[in-house]
Amino acid sequence: MFCYQCEQTQHIDALAGCHSQKGTCGKDSVTSDLQDILIHAVKGLAQVSHRARALGVTDAAVDDFIHYALFTTLTNVNFNPVRIEQLVRQAVTLRDALAGKAAAGAPLATPPGPASYQPPATQALMLAEAAGFGVRAGMETVGEDVIGLRVLVLYGMKGVAAYYHHATVLGFRHPDIDAEIARILSDLAGDPTDIPGLLALALDAGTLNLKVMELLDAANTGTYGTPEPTVVRMTPRAGKAILVSGHDLGDLARILDLTAGAGILVYTHGELLPANAYPALKAHPHLAGNFGSAWQDQHADFAAFPGPVVLTSNCLIEPQRSYKGRIFTAGPVGWPGVRHIENGDFSPVVQAAQALPGFTQDAPEKTTTIGFARDSVMGVAGAVIDAVKSGAIRRFFLIGGCDGAAPGRNYYTEVAEAAPADTVMLTLGCGKFRINGTDHGDIGGIPRLLDLGQCNDAYSAIKIASALADAFQCGVNDLPLSMMVSWFEQKATAVLLSLLALGIKGIHLGPTLPAFLTPTLLAVLQEKFDLRANGDAAADVARALGQAA
Ligand code: SF4
Ligand code: SF4
Repeated sequence: MFCYQCEQTQHIDALAGCHSQKGTCGKDSVTSDLQDILIHAVKGLAQVSHRARALGVTDAAVDDFIHYALFTTLTNVNFNPVRIEQLVRQAVTLRDALAGKAAAGAPLATPPGPASYQPPATQALMLAEAAGFGVRAGMETVGEDVIGLRVLVLYGMKGVAAYYHHATVLGFRHPDIDAEIARILSDLAGDPTDIPGLLALALDAGTLNLKVMELLDAANTGTYGTPEPTVVRMTPRAGKAILVSGHDLGDLARILDLTAGAGILVYTHGELLPANAYPALKAHPHLAGNFGSAWQDQHADFAAFPGPVVLTSNCLIEPQRSYKGRIFTAGPVGWPGVRHIENGDFSPVVQAAQALPGFTQDAPEKTTTIGFARDSVMGVAGAVIDAVKSGAIRRFFLIGGCDGAAPGRNYYTEVAEAAPADTVMLTLGCGKFRINGTDHGDIGGIPRLLDLGQCNDAYSAIKIASALADAFQCGVNDLPLSMMVSWFEQKATAVLLSLLALGIKGIHLGPTLPAFLTPTLLAVLQEKFDLRANGDAAADVARALGQAA
């Protein structure tokens, strides 16, 4: 196996990356190799889909499969080799069926490369070929920079696929997005070596991701209403209980519907905390608040939860024996031996909740306030603009993205501590849990901590920044705004590419820089976008405020 797609990749020798028997995330070498083959097969499907589309032939099942299959290969999503092997074979079946359908109208030449992949009959034979499909295949010929750029595009596209999946399961899709996904993956299937061309492809992925985040925003708000400032209980109440983790609002809604009037309280975990601010979800009286913290604390959180736990998307880590029997996966998520919910039927979860003890008493109440999506912030835009003009708000710090277990992530807590009282912090993604346990006060009634939501709500942040730039008649890069982006996995890679595609400069990226960015690529990104590595938090804040560190 070789994998260096996430921030927790291993640095045990000169070659940064997980390349022993198991990655830091718990992904074993069999699953990792099968995921490489799956990506190869999906690229081949995209090659055929791209060419068939040019002939006017499309297939929604193919489009859905592409983003679903890519989603299973994100960090902390699917660790089940049986499922990944099935997906490889399904990709080839779909590809051949689509090619046949397209050829009925006009001959469809099979493109070279992944489109001609034929999986051997057994998993063992498949794995014997895996080295040829790994992300570093061909490195000796093309060099580290080309490999680094190819995976930058691939990992960005994985993030795009995940966000698009969340939109499509709510019934929101767009043919232009399906077409662009197939086009970019098809380009990637040709193993491009041109560095400027690959950089442009990476920015294309970022531009595509903006459209996908916009669609997901429309899907979430169109289905569940616009998030509104909401005080959320962070401690449990007595009663039977279900914990729902991940990012999928649709799965949470289905569980809420199924448990209505059943005497079961439903709690969010991790990246589902922002769900408590959506009107149609918080209208359920048994949505009882949030339990626990970000994904990396799930061993403690899930072990302490006296009911079933549902993982609707990333970030799953190896379940411990103490709770493995009461955890369920849904959608793209999987772990061998863990019960998987099929077809959105969560009744086994409800049965488990009824059989388990639940909380025996109310815990002392603790709360946090969330729900400052763009409409809430822009609703007080006049007050915000006045506060900036009067100097009451000196600067905004966007502290956005993923959380993780690495000690370097204290950086984000330290940024919040170092940010002076006349600054406002905008959070999104599960990195918020580093900051939201503290009361940061307000500036003339405007809370100093405004949580915008999940990581995909970077779209909200972009809209707020654009509106402020319009109000001040300047560019986003001229606003008193510093972006401290905390990356962990491939959704964050997609968001970063979106910010770069918008021409946003001076982003601080951390806690460490991606291992796949070579010194040459970093130099290019620094020169074009002033991309910065995290330094000392207090010094970075002081520099942002124009002070000597
Ligand atoms: S996803 Fe991250 S931790 Fe897991 S194998 Fe890949 S680089 Fe390693
Ligand atoms: S924001 Fe990133 S790290 Fe956090 S739960 Fe979502 S995917 Fe995982």
